[in-house]
Amino acid sequence: MTSSNSIIFQQDGSPFSTQFDDIYFDTEDGCSQSEDIFINGNDIRQRLLKSDSDFTIAETGFGTGLNFLLTLQLFMSLAQEHDIAELPTLHFISTEKFPLDKATLEQSLLLLPQLSAVVSLLLSQYPEQTSNSCKLKFLDGKVTLSLLIGDAAQSLSGLDRRYENKINAWYLDGFAPAKNPDMWSPALFQQMHRLSAEQATVATFTVAGIVKRGLTTAGFRIYKQVAKGKKKEMLAGKFQMPKHKGYMQRPLTTKPQHVAIIGGGIASACAAYSLAKAGIKVTLYCKDESIAQGASSNAIGAIYPLIHLVKDDISIFYEKAFEHALGRYNTLLAQGYEFDHDWCGLLELSFKEPLRKRQQQFAEKSPWSTRLIQAIDAKTASERANIPLNDGGMYFPKAGWIAPAQLVSAMLKAAQAIGQVKIKTKVNVEQISPLADDKHHTKWQLKTNKGSLLVNHLVLSTGAEGLLSDIDELKHLPVYAVRGQVSSMISKAPLDKLSTVICHKGYLTPANQNEHCIGATFDKDDFSIQQKDSDDSYNLDMLNQAMGYLNPWTSKDVVQSKARLRCMTPDHWPIVGPMPDIEQHKTVYPHLAKDKHWKYDDPAPVKKGLYVLTGLGARGLCTAPLLGDILAADLSSAPYPVDNTMLFNLAPNRFVIRDIIKNKC
Ligand code: SAM
Repeated sequence: MTSSNSIIFQQDGSPFSTQFDDIYFDTEDGCSQSEDIFINGNDIRQRLLKSDSDFTIAETGFGTGLNFLLTLQLFMSLAQEHDIAELPTLHFISTEKFPLDKATLEQSLLLLPQLSAVVSLLLSQYPEQTSNSCKLKFLDGKVTLSLLIGDAAQSLSGLDRRYENKINAWYLDGFAPAKNPDMWSPALFQQMHRLSAEQATVATFTVAGIVKRGLTTAGFRIYKQVAKGKKKEMLAGKFQMPKHKGYMQRPLTTKPQHVAIIGGGIASACAAYSLAKAGIKVTLYCKDESIAQGASSNAIGAIYPLIHLVKDDISIFYEKAFEHALGRYNTLLAQGYEFDHDWCGLLELSFKEPLRKRQQQFAEKSPWSTRLIQAIDAKTASERANIPLNDGGMYFPKAGWIAPAQLVSAMLKAAQAIGQVKIKTKVNVEQISPLADDKHHTKWQLKTNKGSLLVNHLVLSTGAEGLLSDIDELKHLPVYAVRGQVSSMISKAPLDKLSTVICHKGYLTPANQNEHCIGATFDKDDFSIQQKDSDDSYNLDMLNQAMGYLNPWTSKDVVQSKARLRCMTPDHWPIVGPMPDIEQHKTVYPHLAKDKHWKYDDPAPVKKGLYVLTGLGARGLCTAPLLGDILAADLSSAPYPVDNTMLFNLAPNRFVIRDIIKNKC
């Protein structure tokens, strides 16, 4: 064995630190391990492709430079596949307390012939004297390496304010915490908090408690991942703590063993599925004889996103939710779960002037991919819909229809196959209350028709029917019920040939089992679910206004009609998250009334253990899977699948915060 500083080269040639009694990298699969943990763990390839200007990676422990070399190699391969000008400038900042001299570095890297091209680029610039920090440039400055010599936390604290909120990804290397506890210090995690950009990611080879706690305190939501090779496990995470906006912060919870859900529709089913996937046991309480008796009981529901001409926040949310839902439903289908559906496309018919104008605007300057939405003329619309239409419209090629009750049942079966999910029907939860003698309110008492129940974690996912109960907590949210009646029509020419869903003021679905659905009425604050003949006539009238020239039906053709309640919100965003303590909000955030940019870091006050998933309106099929995953992230402290702004737009406390800002309370 030969040695240099505190490095020795073992018999297989690999570098080993005698100071830390640890290896620099595994000779057998060092490259693939580093690639798996740091590069894939931070999703660097995709993020470099998506990022438009600069992308900054920070590393603790440069060592032999293996992680940097792999990153540079990846960048160079992307530059070959794509136009390099379209790639972001990559800044790689690495810290090193015990830098290797050039000869030792060269000898160490001899073990990695597969990296020889990037190794020579590094060696051609690596300083002879390693006592000072330095900046190296590659690919004409498109990639820079800032090598900061010194302790990681100290070096990072020397990065001035220009670096604050700028780090997009962290490679936490350095020897194992047990062998190098000094590096994994609170000061390091504080610097990570200061320097991380919103949604910054972190990946590390260790799953030690000290690292998990440090990252969590610094604002990272973390999860364990299976790692390739000998490591077996690794940690990854996302920085999702909005700085200085405490009201946007959701509480971190220790993952509960069990969660109770009240509700039996698509929102509850998706919540149960996501929680089961996160390893949480679920009991679902549904007041009806069987599940999916509320809004999810309609024979057919359209699935499509709400898309505006500009890429505003709400359209971006619905696009994301739509793609997520299709992915989830296709996974269920691939696993053999069955529900009637057809991804047959959906046409929003431009049957009147303002809609034709909108279609024209989309045709001229749509910011959306045509894979999502297309402006099509009457001829193309007729071809897609397989009926002769007088108007064109906006066409969603991936949209379609689903039989919601069948989907709910399939989703719950899938949830039961993943984890422990109990379904208790005919249990009507009439009231809930925090357990009186528990000052932390960690238990919720449920008053039901079958007696009283006690749970630690509760999700209210009751849809509009919850508004009819005595669950006071729901009454603090500005949700409201809208009655909608859908009419099922016997299939007749020429609409029997219809091959897409058509939306106008209402909607019309293609035939399923020889019936079409037309709908739907829209009556605010009407809680009756009695069928009304006048509503069937209204549905026929709407169809006549949009495409009367093809309507073969009169009210005699109504096979069945059904009225149900949708649960709506004033801003058309659904609601998911911890139930806010509204009164506490008014006490904690009064300054927002004077200055909406007021800086405050403490998280929003919530009713501990109580969560809500509601307000899905008529778009539950599109949004429920993503909302279920957000709820599961809430309850397991895992990374959210959406960014901070989107999360706040979905938060149950957004209404009270907006009211405080507008001085309305
Ligand atoms: N990424 C490295 C590579 O590709 O070779 C592996 C790094 S090695 C496992 C750990 C490195 O962390 C060593 O080079 C060590 O000198 C460095 N290190 C240890 N403590 C440190 C500290 N407090 N600050 C900065 N670097 C440190």
